[in-house]
Amino acid sequence: MSSKGLLVVCTGCAGVGKGTVIKQILKNEESFKLSVSATTRSPRPGEQNGREYYFVTKDEFTSMVEQGEFLEHASYVGNFYGTPKRPVEKLLEQGCNVILEIEVQGGVQVKKIYPDCVSIFIAPPSMQVLEDRLRGRGTETEEVIKKRMKTAEGEMEYQSLYDYSVVNDVVERTADEIVSIVKTERDKRK
Ligand code: 5GP
Repeated sequence: MSSKGLLVVCTGCAGVGKGTVIKQILKNEESFKLSVSATTRSPRPGEQNGREYYFVTKDEFTSMVEQGEFLEHASYVGNFYGTPKRPVEKLLEQGCNVILEIEVQGGVQVKKIYPDCVSIFIAPPSMQVLEDRLRGRGTETEEVIKKRMKTAEGEMEYQSLYDYSVVNDVVERTADEIVSIVKTERDKRK
């Protein structure tokens, strides 16, 4: 893969707000692009095919796997997710920094395949803050909150496998920290 741009893996436990941080980065930084994954899960209200995800059937996903179209793919809570390889390569060749917003295990896989990427783990200020944020949404039942917290605790164990760990305390600050990590790493590779 050409490494004109930098491949940036952004991961973090469920509910940590990585999507919000990444949106903030994309809003301010033209050279940063987000890779759009394919998934077999159903769209949530407001999600559009080709924007948040490419929504595909299980058969379509399997055939993409067989054709070698994914840079990495994983199963997460009963659905499949994969990063299409070609669009990422194209953006890197154009000099863009390409963000992969993926779950913790996929991120570790990408680092093994592309050791040149920079991998960033977005962590909550504390597990209590994460739980408070989940509860604050007011949309989840107590059972779901317990389940998500258990998942999050397991995901936190991957933190040490990442190049950087960034605490998501204030969205703008967290976004700035990630941008500065990427710029520094990119300069190092020149
Ligand atoms: P959600 O269904 O909430 O959009 O995503 C569930 C999890 O899958 C999130 O942690 C998200 O970052 C991750 N994810 C999204 N796309 C991919 C992908 O292409 N590969 C992997 N490994 N994980 C992904």
